[in-house]
Amino acid sequence: MMKVKNWLRHWFQTLFLVELLKGLKLTGKYFFARKITVQYPDERAPKSPRYRGIHALRRYANGEERCIACKLCEAVCPALAITIESHQRPDGSRRTTRYEIDLFKCIFCGFCEESCPVDSIVETTFSDYAITKRGDNILDKPLLLAIGDRYEAQIAAEKAEDAPYR
Ligand code: SF4
Ligand code: SF4
Repeated sequence: MMKVKNWLRHWFQTLFLVELLKGLKLTGKYFFARKITVQYPDERAPKSPRYRGIHALRRYANGEERCIACKLCEAVCPALAITIESHQRPDGSRRTTRYEIDLFKCIFCGFCEESCPVDSIVETTFSDYAITKRGDNILDKPLLLAIGDRYEAQIAAEKAEDAPYR
């Protein structure tokens, strides 16, 4: 009896194109609905202040670089993407002579940013970049500082926005 019922249902659905009509109904519903496709890059979806894009090294307001070459970020990086060399200044403070991030190794985990005691290394929300030739995957210190200088206002605003949730 069950088999006959199933056969009849199948026969009915096939004869009256029920599945096709169901599909057309769904198409019709979305054909007239408001379109939600984002026309990137002219339009952008909102990003969280915690979005992990390209890295930057920050400075203090007086222009002094924040990084104190403690190498915590280098130690914590699970991908071994950070290379740091440092020296001691005549005044006894320590600064990096080399700070590099290999974007081919980086997994954008954010551990470097979390570990930094002086909010120096950060991941910006900027993600519109491309690596087109060998060597572009290495972000060196001047480049990281330049990115930090360019986006400092945005980085500071995003840190302030995120602060209440930490
Ligand atoms: S985001 Fe993660 S993987 Fe990338 S440099 Fe920082 S700690 Fe390393
Ligand atoms: S970026 Fe931060 S964690 Fe890394 S060496 Fe500099 S001060 Fe230390």
